[in-house]
Amino acid sequence: MTSCVLVTGANRGIGLRLAGQYAADGWRVHACCRDPGNRADLRQAVAGHDAVVHALDVGDRRSIDALKAELGDEPIDVLINNAGVGGGDRQTFGDIDYEAWEETIRINTFGPYRVSEALADNVAGSEKRTIANISSRMGSIAECDEGGESIYRSSKTALNMVSLDLAYDLKARGVTVLALHPGWVRTDMGGAEAPITPEDAAAALRRTIAAATFADSGSFLDYDGTRLPW
Ligand code: NAP
Repeated sequence: MTSCVLVTGANRGIGLRLAGQYAADGWRVHACCRDPGNRADLRQAVAGHDAVVHALDVGDRRSIDALKAELGDEPIDVLINNAGVGGGDRQTFGDIDYEAWEETIRINTFGPYRVSEALADNVAGSEKRTIANISSRMGSIAECDEGGESIYRSSKTALNMVSLDLAYDLKARGVTVLALHPGWVRTDMGGAEAPITPEDAAAALRRTIAAATFADSGSFLDYDGTRLPW
């Protein structure tokens, strides 16, 4: 049977490569992005494959409800909550943009949680039953050894916590929930100095997601599958 993946933030960066690679690999792909009418890169990446492009703003509950209505009861083997923002330029003590902080939590933390809540039945009704939240090592409390970047860090720390919560909440339904660090990746967010291409990051994340079992649910993994400290 054909496997099905849903990727948020699929129009650029890591999400674009995830959508393109799964499609090329024969998966059915639901590729979600804001403003789908204007996404030539994404349409090109999935052209000729079994793919549907959806509008989705993960910071907007009504947009998530509309996506759920479009999907109905279709089983989703792997839900990848990839969409995220960096938190903006004012993230240091004494110069914090509190509005950006609220917006970042809404997108990076509420977003994956809300999408997971809305699509839990689709995932639980599938064969692979996996939710992968794209987090960041920047959210690791154990690894943090300097100040700054408080907005982004706290949004991913909170995402890690709710990923663990989701793992417990969905345990009885056999759903595997992972928090994944994609590496430092050469995207708009990661910047030009980043050592990992988005193609390689997407390929590594796909391998790690494929190798994960129910026993791994509730863990925080690096892109190569190594366990990371919370
Ligand atoms: P990117 O190139 O900046 O892409 C971010 C994606 O998220 C875009 O598709 C963007 O869509 C989408 N997005 C942002 N806000 C959204 C919203 N409200 N609703 C729907 N989509 C939204 O970033 P990336 O490097 O690929 O990052 C992907 C994920 O990896 C993020 O969660 C990021 O935090 C995480 N990460 C990245 C790195 C890195 O080094 N790059 C490291 C650790 C973790 P628009 O085009 O509409 O803005």
